[in-house]
Amino acid sequence: MAEMNNNSSSNFIYNLINEDLQEGKYADGIHTRFPPEPNGYLHIGHAKSICLNFGIAKDYDGLCNLRFDDTNPIKEDIEYINSIQEDVKWLGFSWDKRMFFTSDYFEQLYDFAVRLIKDGKAYVCDLTADQIREYRGTLTEPGKESPYRNRSIEENLLLFTQMREGKFADGEKVLRVKIDMSSPNITMRDPVIYRISHTTHHRTGDTWCIYPMYDFAHPLSDAIEGITHSICTLEFEEHRPFYDWLLENCGFDKYTRPKQIEFARLNITNTVMSKRKLRQLVENHIVSGWDDPRMPTISGFRRLGYTPESIRHFCREIGVAKSNSLVDIAMLEHCVREDLNKVATRVMAVLKPLKVTITNYPKDKCEYFLAQDLPTDNACHYIPFSREIYIEQDDFMEEAPKKFFRLKPGGEVRLKYAYIIKCEEVIKDVAGNVIELKCTYDPTSHKGGATANRKIKGTLHWVSVPHALNAEVRLYDYLLNETEEASDKDFLERINPHSLEILNNCKVEPSLYYAAQGSKYQFLRTGYFCVDKDSEPGKLIFNRTVGLRDSWTKICQKK
Ligand code: ATP
Ligand code: MG
Repeated sequence: MAEMNNNSSSNFIYNLINEDLQEGKYADGIHTRFPPEPNGYLHIGHAKSICLNFGIAKDYDGLCNLRFDDTNPIKEDIEYINSIQEDVKWLGFSWDKRMFFTSDYFEQLYDFAVRLIKDGKAYVCDLTADQIREYRGTLTEPGKESPYRNRSIEENLLLFTQMREGKFADGEKVLRVKIDMSSPNITMRDPVIYRISHTTHHRTGDTWCIYPMYDFAHPLSDAIEGITHSICTLEFEEHRPFYDWLLENCGFDKYTRPKQIEFARLNITNTVMSKRKLRQLVENHIVSGWDDPRMPTISGFRRLGYTPESIRHFCREIGVAKSNSLVDIAMLEHCVREDLNKVATRVMAVLKPLKVTITNYPKDKCEYFLAQDLPTDNACHYIPFSREIYIEQDDFMEEAPKKFFRLKPGGEVRLKYAYIIKCEEVIKDVAGNVIELKCTYDPTSHKGGATANRKIKGTLHWVSVPHALNAEVRLYDYLLNETEEASDKDFLERINPHSLEILNNCKVEPSLYYAAQGSKYQFLRTGYFCVDKDSEPGKLIFNRTVGLRDSWTKICQKK
């Protein structure tokens, strides 16, 4: 095996699969699936599951299906189906022709239910949802059997047929399997496997008014598709006995049928990871949409400027475990920074401009200096220099402390790729704000010149005034504040009111005129930025992907 898609050494699932293979099981190959419910956009937690399932398939030369778990027509939408496909592809995985829908199996699933009825293992129950809950018992008390539990097979067959034919209203009847109302495992207390819902389904239309429950549809869909390892999150651990019971009682051979394996969900600081909550953010207009760059969705991260490589790297790093944990978002940012450092073109951009006039530089002169695209190779581009330039307001201080190595009255700095300048005069407006600096330059201090090697502590980025392009830059902070008692608190109370700052008067170098949407740059000394999807030539918009400072490395050093 060449490059592992998962960190297999710390991945207990690989051990389980290896054991199966050693026992001679699943000789036809390993087959996994990624089974999203199309009721929202995919988030970074799903990315973990995608990397795991598609990664296992790759590492074992097996297959991975994309299966839409579309058994709940009320919450599902075609928009989600499309976005999910786009996101999985963007992450770098392929399901080839194996895209399936649980709704494709509705007829087969119905037949399995009929089979269970015929075997005396399923019955139609008239209890209401509340009654079913009441009869179910608790962790400490056994449940009570439904009064409808002993209906004859004939009656059950007739009623189930009538359920399908639409003879009953929503909630009037359900189909349940007959297992054990006193089982210590509550999910084994006669779980419901079909419910009535007179709802149009986005794929099957009005063909059905009964829909299978997830716990029934999922194991059977796995078996129908020949899945070998059905990997899901920890909360399904208690459902595993039913998974096995169902496949056993529907006639699937113990040796070849799928096996459910649970792993811990990904949780990340400063964020929420449930589609229900993410939908609330969208519907309450707290964000601009599912792909708002502050969203932990795959489409949000894409728009923010994250690369698929960095997300895959992150998923490999966090590993796969059996117990829930919280990952610091700094680790994800670290992976993004590592990748962008390798690929993001270096350019100069001034976010909060301060004009500098170089008084001894000829008025109509313009020079072009070479600037390196990446530190790791020789590709370069030209940047124009002239008598008037912009520097960052923060790079000048009138009353500077000793250690301030940027520009101060009478002080000198080097302009990156260009000359050394000296601050001669500070111009202020009536309110006392600094609005311009008058400087002089040392004409021989650029590369190759007589004073090029003069030692100067500070180097500043800059943009030539007549050549500068205007840009909007969006600076993002975390959408949610992290609190000690984060999990108990209503997450809407954790919203950070300062999660977006828009800078309208930024100046960027002219090479960015045609910067295409999605292009990634390092603005020297400032951070990594990505061209937003709404950007166009003449109306440039950048999103700050991540700053340059790596807090993750610091966190690791402290440990
Ligand atoms: P949510 O609670 O966000 O709606 P879900 O589990 O209901 O998540 P599904 O669409 O059913 O969403 O999930 C598809 C697959 O992704 C499942 O196999 C699920 O286990 C996995 N998954 C979902 N959230 C996470 C997460 N945070 N970490 C790892 N895997 C996840
Ligand atoms: Mg779900």
